[in-house]
Amino acid sequence: MTEIPATSGVVAAPSQRRDAILSPDFGAAERGAEAALRVGVLALQGDFREHRAMFARLGAITSEVRNPADLETVDALAIPGGESTTIGKLMRHFDLVAPIRARAAAGMPVLGTCAGLITLATGIAEGDQPVLGLIDIVARRNAFGRQVHSFEADVDMPVVGPPPVRAVFIRAPWIDSAGPGVEILASYQGHAVAAREGRVLVTAFHPELTGDTRVHDAFLAMVRVASSRAEATGPSAGTPAQEVVS
Ligand code: GLN
Repeated sequence: MTEIPATSGVVAAPSQRRDAILSPDFGAAERGAEAALRVGVLALQGDFREHRAMFARLGAITSEVRNPADLETVDALAIPGGESTTIGKLMRHFDLVAPIRARAAAGMPVLGTCAGLITLATGIAEGDQPVLGLIDIVARRNAFGRQVHSFEADVDMPVVGPPPVRAVFIRAPWIDSAGPGVEILASYQGHAVAAREGRVLVTAFHPELTGDTRVHDAFLAMVRVASSRAEATGPSAGTPAQEVVS
């Protein structure tokens, strides 16, 4: 008997459902691999529960990261939306800055949304709060205006395919400038709002607050690649020196 891994909440796309009926094993291997991925969500402040729920829907094992020991148990890290100054302070307080940088340098994929994008940037426009510097972008905080704190818009993000994502912006930043190694994945009103460099993926909006799992799914695909490479060639293989452009 084929054992089907627990994938509670995974809804097959319509085109996949027919295959699933034809073949009960459809997707089992792929989802089995995905279920083995352990994604930690930085749980110091912000909407970390929503990120956990998204990854759980996609079959990943999730956990909350609050200290360096928690970080050691995960294959990837998501930094949620919230307040980047608070997240930054708490990261320092709990001695997480150096361990996160070290894991990222060794190839751990990292996702950041909204405040998470700011936390991961190399710089902040008109500000000097400490940042992790893991993606070569300058973020502008509250860039879409303090008056309009929150809005939604359809944003094209070709990397996750059509249709556009329904992007939720809450006191959102945008990306003021980006280094040559950064791929801009989405823009809104002429401003970059999603980007990737190496194994770091950021969005200025909050995919975790919608029912659309495609951004998290794209991140899991990055984690799957990183994990399979690390497994194939041993611990040092996680270093994405060639993948990450400085
Ligand atoms: N404006 C917030 C900051 O600077 C981010 C807002 C959010 O994550 N929704 O950290």
